[in-house]
Amino acid sequence: MRAVLSVGANLDDAAGAVEGVLRHFAPEAVAVSPVYDTAPWGVTDQPDFANAVVIIDTPDTPEQLLDRCQALENAAGRVRELRWGPRTLDVDIVQCAAPDGSEIRSATDRLSLPHPHAHERAFVLVPWLAADPDGVLAGVPVATLVDGLPSADVAGVRLQEGGRP
Ligand code: ADP
Ligand code: MG
Repeated sequence: MRAVLSVGANLDDAAGAVEGVLRHFAPEAVAVSPVYDTAPWGVTDQPDFANAVVIIDTPDTPEQLLDRCQALENAAGRVRELRWGPRTLDVDIVQCAAPDGSEIRSATDRLSLPHPHAHERAFVLVPWLAADPDGVLAGVPVATLVDGLPSADVAGVRLQEGGRP
């Protein structure tokens, strides 16, 4: 299947944590975004995040991929304290698609696909658009979703200094 992953971090070496995840998935990656600095979402009284999106082709099932994402989070020493609060590393599955391109849906406690908040999050959509200008989420082009976001949200997602263009 093809999967779109959103990677975020905002503690310690946030960009380094994100880049470590991008390296982990590099052998399966078909596209990767630059790393962005993003204003925090939900709980705003916390440091900026580093965010990126990587698109992979993998033999994993969605559940196996979630296991990998959570193992990476745990290896980064993630402590689950405050919802939407600071964390060393967050690796979310935004979307999974079958080889015929059809979107895989899931609605279990453990796994919601597509990710229920992806369509409204600039820190997911802006990097996704950079990685794949033709991306589509639940039938809507990612470019259209970005156009519909509040401009302040989009302005809060900035290419990192020294990041790749
Ligand atoms: P968030 O990513 O919304 O900040 P967490 O990373 O703490 O929150 O995730 C909480 C739970 O969300 C995880 O235990 C995981 O099982 C579940 N989850 C449901 N759908 C997904 C998904 N598409 N990607 C990642 N985690 C998911
Ligand atoms: Mg998560």
